[in-house]
Amino acid sequence: MCERKTAAGCAEKVKENENKVFAIAIDGPAGAGKSTVAKELASLFGLIHVDTGAMFRAIGLKALRLGMDPADESAVRPMLDDTAVTLELVDEAQHVFLDGEDVNAFIRTEEVSQAASNVSTLPSVREKLLELQRALAKKQSLVMDGRDICTVVLPNARFKFYITASAEVRAKRRYDEYLEKGRLGEMSYEDVLREIEERDYRDMNREYAPLRPAEDAVIVDTSEMSVKQVLTRVLLSMIDV
Ligand code: C5P
Repeated sequence: MCERKTAAGCAEKVKENENKVFAIAIDGPAGAGKSTVAKELASLFGLIHVDTGAMFRAIGLKALRLGMDPADESAVRPMLDDTAVTLELVDEAQHVFLDGEDVNAFIRTEEVSQAASNVSTLPSVREKLLELQRALAKKQSLVMDGRDICTVVLPNARFKFYITASAEVRAKRRYDEYLEKGRLGEMSYEDVLREIEERDYRDMNREYAPLRPAEDAVIVDTSEMSVKQVLTRVLLSMIDV
């Protein structure tokens, strides 16, 4: 298959939507590669990329900073009334601002990952972020990734993907990433795997907006695929839509 042809075909498809606001929605569990796919598509088509996980992370960070239990609705709900989460482009990358502070440097720790996963089970948090996410998608065409984008946030998105991989492969990717960035600390591969499995369980079994593939999403299992192969699969499916 000629990749240039694929990209050209896709660009044409995307162009068809040029005058309409449209969305490419991507869901999947942690470490499956959705963010990589989202960034590549955004750059290829000149769209903005909204990483909704960063919004949940910002709220999880605030709960931790205030010494709250991030799973406690009665503590977190009132906090939301004076919590502002905004996204801004800084050097072409998405940065999340919490009450006006750029918190990008603080949201990628394991502690914040778990806090984000806990606050994300709360209906008040989901309601607040749902509104923000829909408002962003109304304003401009974009690529949005998360856990419930295809199923709840943008069920009418023009293109929908569910990017997944085995828990072991995702844990290995996370482990290598932490190692490279010096964020591993005392954690072993088994610790990273356990945390991924805990997060998966919580994300898939929560009452509100659980993680699951939308019926009409294209499912891509990236366990045995390179980034290039995943992108090719995604782009080809966009031509077929
Ligand atoms: O994608 P990321 O790992 O940054 O997301 C952090 C956490 O935020 C996830 O584990 C999930 O619990 C939550 N989340 C969510 N819905 C989204 C995006 C993220 O519940 N749309």
